[in-house]
Amino acid sequence: MTPEERRAELAESLAEVQDRLVKACHAADRSADEVELLAVTKTFPASDVALLSDLGLVAFAENREQEARGKVAEFAELRPQAVRRWHMVGQLQRNKARAVTRWADVVESVDSERLAEALARATANARAAGDREHPLDVLVQVSLDGTVGRGGCPPDDVPRLADKIAGTSDLRLRGVMAVAPLGGDPDVAFATLRAISERLRVDHPEAVDVSAGMSADLESAVAHGSTRVRVGTALLGGRRLTSP
Ligand SMILES: *Cc1c(COP(=O)(O)O)cnc(C)c1O
Repeated sequence: MTPEERRAELAESLAEVQDRLVKACHAADRSADEVELLAVTKTFPASDVALLSDLGLVAFAENREQEARGKVAEFAELRPQAVRRWHMVGQLQRNKARAVTRWADVVESVDSERLAEALARATANARAAGDREHPLDVLVQVSLDGTVGRGGCPPDDVPRLADKIAGTSDLRLRGVMAVAPLGGDPDVAFATLRAISERLRVDHPEAVDVSAGMSADLESAVAHGSTRVRVGTALLGGRRLTSP
């Protein structure tokens, strides 16, 4: 496929996703600008990120630190002037905290106090070394299926983890993130997430982000208050490499 063909393909799928979002917002009596589209570019090359950037997207996400690191650098070379924000949305080992703070603007997958501590320390070091300017924006990832296998902390642990994050000067608590359980009813999951978000905002009014909804269930997430949908397949097509 030529770059022109790929560009046309991405433009078409982007228009479709944006149309779904507009309709979902309308159905939920929400304004379309209340929901941000985050392009999940895992397994796709930096050239696709560049094309999506040309098409107007500014927020991109990856789920593996190692894959992201190179892609972020490559994209910066392809489009040095582009406005961009990189989100980490995958499970993160504490020993990758240092590496992730070099490229991520937002880490959406913070699910333990130990990981929060590691990220705070790594961000402080990166700032001291001049490798990073700003504090790291983070979301608390919540597990909605009663297991911890796919990442996320149990709902009951959210308040304590949020307090921990808010108590650091290098992390900024922005809200919550979740993945709807496989095979479960997304409406139930996203309604639960909304309740967790509302409770969180009593103590942390600044934590307004609700990152919820993917290619298959974004309408349900928007109906339940999502402020950011994370879309991979519907934008970029079937994934090329295996990715956990
Ligand atoms: C891959 C991924 C997505 C995007 O999923 P699609 O079904 O391809 O839209 C969203 N969130 C997370 C955490 C992911 O890993």
